[in-house]
Amino acid sequence: MNNQSPSINVTNVVFEYPGTRALENVSFNVPRGSITALVGPNGAGKTTLLRCIAGLEAPLSGQIQVDGIDVLNEPRICHQRMGYLADNFGLYKNLTVEQCLYYAAAAHNVTYNDIKTAVLDTANKLQLTERLAQKTSELSRGLKQRVAIGQAIIHHPKVILLDEPASGLDPEARHELSGLFRLLRNQGMTLLVSSHILTELAEYSTDMLILKAGQIIDQRTITSDTSSEIALELTLVEPLENIVEYLSSQPNVTEPQVQGAKVQFNFVGDHSARYQLLKTLLDAGIAVCGLTEAHQKMETSYLESVGKTTPNRRNTF
Ligand code: ATP
Repeated sequence: MNNQSPSINVTNVVFEYPGTRALENVSFNVPRGSITALVGPNGAGKTTLLRCIAGLEAPLSGQIQVDGIDVLNEPRICHQRMGYLADNFGLYKNLTVEQCLYYAAAAHNVTYNDIKTAVLDTANKLQLTERLAQKTSELSRGLKQRVAIGQAIIHHPKVILLDEPASGLDPEARHELSGLFRLLRNQGMTLLVSSHILTELAEYSTDMLILKAGQIIDQRTITSDTSSEIALELTLVEPLENIVEYLSSQPNVTEPQVQGAKVQFNFVGDHSARYQLLKTLLDAGIAVCGLTEAHQKMETSYLESVGKTTPNRRNTF
């Protein structure tokens, strides 16, 4: 597989439960190295789609490839290359956290010599090191969720499917999860994440796939890398009259729009370019108290899209 080929390729998938058509001719590609947010209203078919990609449901028709391998024809090879967190996951109650992680690693063919390191490394990533000796029946909902995520990533899969991974996690754990997803992406993994929490998805997603009533109604690139255009929001200590003119004169900045002490604008550049902009503003004596990514754009975009009916468009925003 070359680096340009999609990680997940879904073609004309139709899926039916008795009496319900849950997926209607679904086709899309998940770009390699992306974190793609799978969003849509309740009952849209997100869980069904993830289960089909994980090879746990057989579609009525259509094809699904993960890392170039047909899921239905070669499920075992696919399972070595993917990690899957189900929405209603189960853990063995009488196993400790360490045993659960050990079991997941062994089940995914992590070699005997590497299992211990994999268990400790995964526990560390999910802040479970202090809990290794505890039985899962004694864990809170959020801690169980972390163990289940650990089980899904312990074998360093190329593709990770996560169904509502943040449900049950406290705000700090959710924030840490965002960092973990970005880390996994930096390590070369591709993630497909279903969630209803758009503000969190916007923290780490590079792409968004919108499903409604069993159909893909939109696929958008949010940001493919740090050099792509991104919406930023500058917060000032107090409104400043000439801030729009000042920002317009800066390199990499376009379309500044002011609202009180906040200014939104589009920016092209990596983190060091962002730092340069911030430094320039501060050196000019402008009282800045925040520079953040304007996450609400994803939510606005989603709400716009779910009102639309045109299927299979691909946009950049
Ligand atoms: P949510 O956001 O509420 O979790 P979802 O987008 O994940 O929803 P699915 O769970 O995939 O949606 O359900 C898609 C459709 O299939 C819905 O109409 C649902 O009622 C139906 N469905 C799901 N599971 C079954 C089942 N086991 N038997 C029959 N119909 C089902």
